[in-house]
Amino acid sequence: MFAKFLKTFALMGAAVALTSGLAQAQNYPARPITVIVPFAAGGPTDVIARIVSEHMGKVLGQQLIVENVVGAGGTTGITKAFQASPDGYTIMMGHMGTHGAAPALYANLKYKPASDFEPIGMAAGTPILVVARKDYPAKDLKEFVAKLKADGDKLNEGQAGVGSVSFTTCVMFNVLAGAKPTRVPYSGTGPVINDMLAGKIDYACDQIVSVASQIQGGAIKAYAIATDKRSPALPDVPTSAEAGLPEFKVSAWNAMFAPKGTPKDVVAKLNDALNKALSDAATRKRLEDLGGVIPPEGAERTGAWLGDFVTAEVKKWGEIIKAGGVVPQQ
Ligand code: ASP
Repeated sequence: MFAKFLKTFALMGAAVALTSGLAQAQNYPARPITVIVPFAAGGPTDVIARIVSEHMGKVLGQQLIVENVVGAGGTTGITKAFQASPDGYTIMMGHMGTHGAAPALYANLKYKPASDFEPIGMAAGTPILVVARKDYPAKDLKEFVAKLKADGDKLNEGQAGVGSVSFTTCVMFNVLAGAKPTRVPYSGTGPVINDMLAGKIDYACDQIVSVASQIQGGAIKAYAIATDKRSPALPDVPTSAEAGLPEFKVSAWNAMFAPKGTPKDVVAKLNDALNKALSDAATRKRLEDLGGVIPPEGAERTGAWLGDFVTAEVKKWGEIIKAGGVVPQQ
């Protein structure tokens, strides 16, 4: 009798959960959505999040509000987003660091990038550049590398914390250049570039999106872009191969995720809104003017593709970091 009661009760519960889930998806979004950006304002993750969020808000009929939650190379913000209620009202902008390199660098990372999230979609690919303060006395990459070899320990390199894109890609660059600079941690590369403009930071490895306009305006200089081809946004910046360091080839990316368990139709609505933003002419132009590489329409715009990509990235960066002999933080 009691077992029957329990069974009926459980079935009723399931039915209620199912209908409320459906109702939730149908009315979604009924209020503004928080987008957790795990770095400071003005950096690439923040810039990309704000650009796509603006159009996504129009599509969804509710505002997307960016919340910057900084620390530990982006893992503090992503941990907060991971622990948020999976109702579609908290999502996040992750990147190659938080959802690729971080597990190999933090022994006690609370989340698993490949299995603890619902991937919404890729927002933009972001080539990496080696940038320096505008008065740094080296005219090109060869001279810069020679300087780094000679007195690299006197230089300040700015980076966004262990596991961030700037941290990881400059580990690669410093090994190749034979440099041992002072690595200065920040809450994002927005503040790194501010201090570079003030002359306090000598160089950094950053994602194109937040440095393109400063390079175009001559406020900082770029020694190389670590891609096969030059960027249409910065046609005068040589590739690392052209500049004499072909081994330095690396790219980063930013993508949106929701906490695990967010209803499928809610994730589908978010994916649709993101893709509409990426297909919107004005939004595309804003991203492309900054050097962002927009994923082509089709498979690469799906959450499933992003899920597989994250799995591959975690593996790839795990191997690179292990081979580099970097010991994970406790
Ligand atoms: N570009 C940064 C990084 O190094 C973070 C940021 O978006 O500010 O990971």
